[in-house]
Amino acid sequence: MPITRRNILRKFAAGAASAAALRAFGELGFAQARPAENRSVSAGPLVLSRNENPYGPSPKVLAAMREAAARANRYPAGEYDTLTRKLAALHRVHPEQIVLGCGSSELLRMAAETFLGPGKKFVQASPTFPLPGEVARNTGADVISVALNSRHEHDLEMMLARSDASTALVYVCNPNNPTGTITPRAEIQGFIAKLPAKTMVLVDEAYHEFAGQSKAYASFLDRPLDDHRVIVTRTFSKVHGLAGMRIGYAVASPEAARRLSAGHLTLGVGVISARAAAAALDDPDYAALAARRNAADRQEFRNQINARMMRAIDSHTNFVMLDPRRPVEEVFAHLQKNNVQIGPPAPEMSKYLRVSLGTPEEMLQFWKIWDLMPVGKMAM
Ligand code: PLP
Repeated sequence: MPITRRNILRKFAAGAASAAALRAFGELGFAQARPAENRSVSAGPLVLSRNENPYGPSPKVLAAMREAAARANRYPAGEYDTLTRKLAALHRVHPEQIVLGCGSSELLRMAAETFLGPGKKFVQASPTFPLPGEVARNTGADVISVALNSRHEHDLEMMLARSDASTALVYVCNPNNPTGTITPRAEIQGFIAKLPAKTMVLVDEAYHEFAGQSKAYASFLDRPLDDHRVIVTRTFSKVHGLAGMRIGYAVASPEAARRLSAGHLTLGVGVISARAAAAALDDPDYAALAARRNAADRQEFRNQINARMMRAIDSHTNFVMLDPRRPVEEVFAHLQKNNVQIGPPAPEMSKYLRVSLGTPEEMLQFWKIWDLMPVGKMAM
């Protein structure tokens, strides 16, 4: 029988180990809440590369989207108020402090384009989510990348040392992509206090909902700083399972929000996206379930890593940075050959691979394919 994902899955159906894992999944109470269309694994590539929510949006959100589809003939001008007011109430700010975008990517781009240009500096960690740095470079700004410290946190001392009066924007991704690590809130706060008075700080909380358990972490929206320089971005792409709808938002001071909005796409957020996001905010139980489910999936991934004597960086997100203790090129080639997509290589952390967490069925497939790799000599 050829090794295809479909055949592997067929074999799994009879396998005791997979049955045990799936039973554990059911016992956690997750199975019933999963949209039926996501329960089977398609014959396409196994996509573990984009840090998406593999279970999809909540049934209530899907219902709101279906209803919103009937308004597809109308421009979405009237659609933003409800969502903006809900977000303002959630974060206890004025509606004028909320800026919506086509994914938080649009907000990150707008921030870089608004505050940067030739003669200005942008300071970021390395590695981190690359988009803001790429846009910064395109504006002609000087991009300073500071290696993460030995705990894979932002090296804030060094980032401060590399900042000066020309530093117009600093980017802090917390939890960080691709490492999944948290930089302690107290340290970020101390860092911001010491930055030059005109330096804006872009705090990216795309993975906020997955970091809830850590004492070191506190969101800049849940525990805001009274500092007009701080801009926080969030997304509906991750815990809410709406990556395909392209919707996110920023919370900023009224002045920063006004400046950011100048770089908006006119009527960029579509009606179905706006209504999906509003419905997601009305269904916090689903987001909580998604975070719990992710924690269980992450623990199981961790168990599988340990069982294979490999290592991973402690993750506070829906992806894990894994040290396979063998040449990563070999692993990339094997996974690619078997139609498995994982995160792109991070040149700064060349020993690691980033794997997004899929459903338990998808992860069983992943490990089955992984175990087809010839046993190599493990690096110590
Ligand atoms: N920020 C971080 C840290 C991310 O990892 C991503 C996407 O993976 C984004 C922002 C952009 O997300 P979106 O544009 O879907 O909101």
